[in-house]
Amino acid sequence: MDLWNLTLFQLHELIKKREVSCKEVVEAVLERIGSIEEKIKAFITIRGEDAINEAKELDQRISRGEEIRLLTGIPISIKDIFCTEGILTTCASKILSNFIPPYNATVVERLKAEGAIIIGKNNMDEFAMGSSTENSAFYPTRNPWDLKRVPGGSSGGSAAAVAAGESIASIGTDTGGSIRQPAGLCGVVGMKPTYGRVSRYGMIAFASSLDQGGPITKDVRDCAIMLKAISGYDPRDSTSVNIPVPDYPDILTDSVKGKIIGVPREYFIKGMDEDVEVSVRNALRLLEKMGAVIEEVSIPHTEYAIPVYYIIATAEASSNLARYDGVKYGYRSPYAKDLLEMYMRSRAEGFGTEVKRRIMLGTYALSAGYYEAYYRKAQQVRTLIREDFSKAFNTCHCLITPTSPTPAFLLGEKIDDPLKMYLSDIFTISVNLAGLPAISIPCGFSREGLPIGMQIIGKPFDESTVLQVAYAYETHTPWNKIRPKL
Ligand code: GLN
Repeated sequence: MDLWNLTLFQLHELIKKREVSCKEVVEAVLERIGSIEEKIKAFITIRGEDAINEAKELDQRISRGEEIRLLTGIPISIKDIFCTEGILTTCASKILSNFIPPYNATVVERLKAEGAIIIGKNNMDEFAMGSSTENSAFYPTRNPWDLKRVPGGSSGGSAAAVAAGESIASIGTDTGGSIRQPAGLCGVVGMKPTYGRVSRYGMIAFASSLDQGGPITKDVRDCAIMLKAISGYDPRDSTSVNIPVPDYPDILTDSVKGKIIGVPREYFIKGMDEDVEVSVRNALRLLEKMGAVIEEVSIPHTEYAIPVYYIIATAEASSNLARYDGVKYGYRSPYAKDLLEMYMRSRAEGFGTEVKRRIMLGTYALSAGYYEAYYRKAQQVRTLIREDFSKAFNTCHCLITPTSPTPAFLLGEKIDDPLKMYLSDIFTISVNLAGLPAISIPCGFSREGLPIGMQIIGKPFDESTVLQVAYAYETHTPWNKIRPKL
């Protein structure tokens, strides 16, 4: 049995029945990494011995009668944007290439408290800016379904690792689609929770009003398990919301009877891939057969989502990234002769092209005289987009759209054309602007054999409905059980 090929829940059952030890599970996943990581490049840091030692310790605690929790002994990888105490955390940037945090992000702390074993830190686009993982300062990650293609981004290392069996589950972040888009392109499940559901403490900030951490897993049950583990109020994040967290794994059912599913007209656009449209339409037909009611709805301000996002996200990024100045931590240019030159050179040498582009765009949008025309206007349109969704949710329980307009594209295909790259998030970005929960689940394959993702969007803090519809669809379809051949 290939342990690395099992889901989190399957491994949990084996560990619980004492059929396998935590050490065996961790070793199986590390061996898998050893045999294919050269091809995929999903990691920036891999924890070998340390992870095995933690597993041994857990095995000892189990033999002494300690409770086996859902995540006990499960090897999990973490996007390299989350601070991990004593473990290099680079955000895939040269400017943080030597940064070892003195503390854990809340998400990491919670996973560890549930018994999870961190096996490594995943590659990503630098500071989570990108849709292909090609903006990593180190190397791009490759899609396990076709090594010539991108895994999506910015959490591309996380999605590729889970798809390839290099980790059982991962945690990514999603500012404009960075969990859902790579999950879709790699044929795995990815969920962005409601803004405020998961603590951002210790998660390196890109655009603070949009960023949210969430799980990337092999199936919906695993996603529910991970989401429950990381959710909940955290006094160290002032935007985290103090409301109860449902028992997500417990609420899953395989029925969608009576669920009203809205399909936004604006999300089936000219120029989108035919295979994507066919797969999502087939999925809707199946859901209808299963008892759901499908209703066309309108999100009329959709066309403004990308411009609004690229004003708000860059403005917030320009402010958040001001802290990287070479003074207290991170990269410092060795070539500077005075303080000003030290600041300038450290930033010029430490940041990559896309990050610099965003800082310049954001600084411009916030500058005196332009603030009203750009940033304030964008915030006003953001409100209109949020209202579009609340209107749709007056009649619907959830909405369904494609996750991305195309399956995985080729490495190099969009890297020289930022606008083209930005457009690959056209279906995911509005959800961040509105702060809503949404999942991407596999819903078919293109003619070339590439996975296709479908997005289910929910009302604020109603992750439960999203997970229920996703789980019901998954139990009626084979997609998530098909794995890439490597
Ligand atoms: N691709 C989008 C961007 O480049 C979204 C990234 C994200 O969600 N972190 O900003």
